[in-house]
Amino acid sequence: MTNKINIAIDGYSACGKSSTAKRVAKKLSYIYIDSGAMYRAVTLYFQQHLIDLDNLEGIENALPKIEIDFKKVGDVHHTFLNDVDVEDEIRQPRVAAIVSEVAAMSNVRRKLVEQQQKMAAQKGVVMEGRDIGSVVIPDAELKFFMTADVDVRTKRRQDELLKKSGKLFPLEELKANLLHRDRIDSTREDSPLTKVVDAIEIDTTHLTLENQIDLIYNKAMQLVNN
Ligand code: C5P
Repeated sequence: MTNKINIAIDGYSACGKSSTAKRVAKKLSYIYIDSGAMYRAVTLYFQQHLIDLDNLEGIENALPKIEIDFKKVGDVHHTFLNDVDVEDEIRQPRVAAIVSEVAAMSNVRRKLVEQQQKMAAQKGVVMEGRDIGSVVIPDAELKFFMTADVDVRTKRRQDELLKKSGKLFPLEELKANLLHRDRIDSTREDSPLTKVVDAIEIDTTHLTLENQIDLIYNKAMQLVNN
């Protein structure tokens, strides 16, 4: 396939963006980028180095020391923070608890958006997050905005964490975190989560993962074949 495009997928927490984006990228032989993992890795760095979120100087000094990469471990994409595989750690609720506060900081966003734009410059990228279609790659040929009922999202997140960590987190706790993050992500000043006018909305409440993949893949094939 020569005519490569970029695909932006934005939406609320736990709507199935990652699972869908990963599989679409694989089908198209494109690069998958989980931008949320990058905000989670920065959050983990602050936690590991005991940098409080109100320590603005500490945060400014820390940012140049943070390097984030994605590498494949077997067939799975893993996130590396300063060359250490942190894929499991960044998914833990203790990181999710404050990641939206970290992601609301403009200096953090500036650093990560710059890296994300470099990754997308060659085209052939499926990137998911909150500001991909609006800020990171506003010229993406295809943009999607995913939503789903909050109880369905909560249950999906519980199943995912159970599968990954063997722990059953209480639904109320997970739901409160999703709503908390949605609120901060949608109302922050810098790059709030929003559905851009040229995004196609997908409500995944009643869709299977296969439905979601087909929908995006088919739209992409229509474009690249034209
Ligand atoms: O996608 P995920 O839920 O892993 O993202 C974690 C958090 O990172 C989000 O709740 C949001 O606060 C932040 N984020 C963001 N912009 C992105 C991707 C994620 O602000 N492009």
